[in-house]
Amino acid sequence: MLKLAADRLVVSEIFDSVQGEGPSVGAPSTFLRLGYCNLACRWCDTPYTWDAKRHDLEAELSARGIDDVADDLRARAPRNLVVTGGEPMLQQAALAALAGLVPHSIEVETAGTIAPLPAFAEHVRQWNVSPKLASSGNPLAKRRVDGVLRDFAARPEAIFKLVIGDDADFDEARALLEELDVAPSRVWLMPEATSASALAERSRGLVDRCVTHGYHLGTRLHVTLWGDRRGV
Ligand code: SF4
Repeated sequence: MLKLAADRLVVSEIFDSVQGEGPSVGAPSTFLRLGYCNLACRWCDTPYTWDAKRHDLEAELSARGIDDVADDLRARAPRNLVVTGGEPMLQQAALAALAGLVPHSIEVETAGTIAPLPAFAEHVRQWNVSPKLASSGNPLAKRRVDGVLRDFAARPEAIFKLVIGDDADFDEARALLEELDVAPSRVWLMPEATSASALAERSRGLVDRCVTHGYHLGTRLHVTLWGDRRGV
């Protein structure tokens, strides 16, 4: 495993595309995808960032100096920057340094198990928090850190995105959101799907629940456009 440090970032890929999920769906964005994750979701669509059993992480990941990553980002249009992973919060100290060097508006994708550091949080316009449910296959103690989830729930710049595969997922998600007292207007439900046809069918199954409870029905634009292709 490459060592994590405050003066460098372990990067999987940097690419330009449109945001595929959440409130800024469709926004032209630069994606900074970082390596490693503290969870292991059974349906993860980016296992090449963390799963050494299935992927050669030495080939997939590179440790890059913060100035090098900042140069790469500044060479692109100063648009929305989506920091994702893996779990990018594992590298917050380095991200705090990077954020001070680039002009982008920053949103962060996180599973909500690691609390934000103030030095990084001050640069973040939006947290996209995706708590993992029992069906993700992660042990409860790893996937649900209530103090951290409450921290995010108290931040007005945080929204919650949950992947829903079946009735049990929906019931668990709803109970969690009520416990955290998250307003439904801050919630996006997304169906679990890796193809456009499955996405459409499962989205239809979520419509009534979103209408009844006031949640947004979130799409996964990248699945509609490209299925499970990576780096787009
Ligand atoms: S938290 Fe995200 S990156 Fe980590 S295993 Fe789960 S889906 Fe994959």
